[in-house]
Amino acid sequence: MSEFECDLPHASCEEASRDARHAARMTRKKALIDAAIAAATDEHGLLIVITGNGKGKSTSAFGTVARALGHGMKVGVVQFIKSRTDTGEEAFLGQHAEWHVTGDGFTWDTQNREQDIATAERGWAIAARMLGDPAYQLVVLDELTYLLSYGYLDSDTVLDALAQRPPMQHVVVTGRAAPDALIELADTVSIIADEKHAFRAGVKAQPGIDL
Ligand code: ATP
Ligand code: MG
Repeated sequence: MSEFECDLPHASCEEASRDARHAARMTRKKALIDAAIAAATDEHGLLIVITGNGKGKSTSAFGTVARALGHGMKVGVVQFIKSRTDTGEEAFLGQHAEWHVTGDGFTWDTQNREQDIATAERGWAIAARMLGDPAYQLVVLDELTYLLSYGYLDSDTVLDALAQRPPMQHVVVTGRAAPDALIELADTVSIIADEKHAFRAGVKAQPGIDL
């Protein structure tokens, strides 16, 4: 818009010129976005991995559960590692989604590797059933990454089940330190960074925010 003509006072002309430049930029941007949307025609079940050290992995997965339930989709949730059954997510979303809490605490709580492996395998059996059933349109495997990084579950077994799941089934996997092979297999990966966390300032876990 270099040849922008204007009979108004200088300040008004500058503003009008800025508005015109903005409109032109948005028109170009819209054309690019419309083209990208038109090119994205593929539709299939996605494997989404939410990893990293920052807070928000499980809450992101539960946000996806709320979305899917809002569309009337059948949702299965398996929570590994954690054992608490008094969370807000289970109380609320568990009324509509099939919800399994399969852990018996963090490894530093149980301090028993054999028990951890047996617990992991019990949880995995539930997950494997869901991953083999096309009726589940969304499956959330919360904190699954730890079972892989600690070697509690056979990595190939887990990756094969994820790769061979029904084509339209979405899966969200959460947990820190997602293994490379899982990241490789995933369609969408978000790594949440730990910039700041209230816990380090002495704030305890609170209902509605942390559980
Ligand atoms: P959330 O469930 O809040 O989304 P998350 O799934 O990203 O957290 P987890 O490692 O599963 O992270 O954490 C479970 C609990 O630990 C939550 O209470 C969460 O607030 C807390 N937490 C998460 N990240 C951190 C962190 N970087 N430092 C301290 N506590 C954390
Ligand atoms: Mg979590």
